[in-house]
Amino acid sequence: MFKRTALTLALLGATAVSQADVLTTVKPLGFIANAITDGVTETKVLLPVSASPHDYSLKPSDVEQLQSAQLVVWIGEEMEGFLEKSIEKLPKEKVLTLEDIDAIKELVEHDDDHKDEKKDDHKHEHKHEHKHDHEHGHNHSHDEDWHIWLSPTASITIAEQIAERLSQQQPEQKAKIEENLANFKTAMVTKNGEIEKQLSAVKGKGYYTFHDAYSHFEDAYGLKSLGSFTINPTVAPGAKTLNKIKKDIAKHDAQCLFAEPQFTPKVIESLSKGTNVGVGQLDPLGEKVEMGKDAYPKFLQSIADQFSGCLAK
Ligand SMILES: [Zn+2]
Repeated sequence: MFKRTALTLALLGATAVSQADVLTTVKPLGFIANAITDGVTETKVLLPVSASPHDYSLKPSDVEQLQSAQLVVWIGEEMEGFLEKSIEKLPKEKVLTLEDIDAIKELVEHDDDHKDEKKDDHKHEHKHEHKHDHEHGHNHSHDEDWHIWLSPTASITIAEQIAERLSQQQPEQKAKIEENLANFKTAMVTKNGEIEKQLSAVKGKGYYTFHDAYSHFEDAYGLKSLGSFTINPTVAPGAKTLNKIKKDIAKHDAQCLFAEPQFTPKVIESLSKGTNVGVGQLDPLGEKVEMGKDAYPKFLQSIADQFSGCLAK
């Protein structure tokens, strides 16, 4: 009797492992995870490519995915408030909350200091936007940029964390996981060098991004953002911001306005009309980048190409 139970449990265990996967919220986190899970387990992404983490609501099938994953990787409630309640119900050993990691916290808080200097004039509008955070079911604090998947530095920390957790869960795969992590780090050193070189040509050129998502990328490669249309992509840009953008276009300080595939505001068309400001598109969620073990460096390259494609003109 006892033997039979043990055998049944072993079989159930084996089934559970073969169906398990690392589940990330947004696709670029999936790119990082995929580099580590290659040959070890599967990587899945919760949000559909066309969805934004800023205005997403969970479906019943999403809850099932969360429950069946061996490890759920999310940024945290600051960025993904829509997940908070479902995550709380999962066993702690199955969840990796990136906003709780010291190195990530430091990166976000450090960037905060220097954003305050350059973005003082946005203060009032942000306070107003915060009041709406709850109704819209998300949090998008302006002082802290939680789009950490756009940080080459954070991506290394994230990869290390996933590798550590995965090694705990599958100790027999530790060597493969470590090899994957080492390969990821090597690929990132190469990619960083290439992007630095590519973007050094457009360093002094001013631009506006659609929403405040790129500060980590900009800081890493020395790009000169003049600001964003909106801090929170679900809130329309304020009149004061639009006037400033108009002035910067007239003075030729702004060379490009960047839209995003998830949000296509008419305001960008109307502001650019009759001026020589360029209009580009930045895809912070890597819609067109295919999943795979080399996807993350390709994703960073796609962002670099999108910046330089407009700014280098
Ligand atoms: Zn965002």
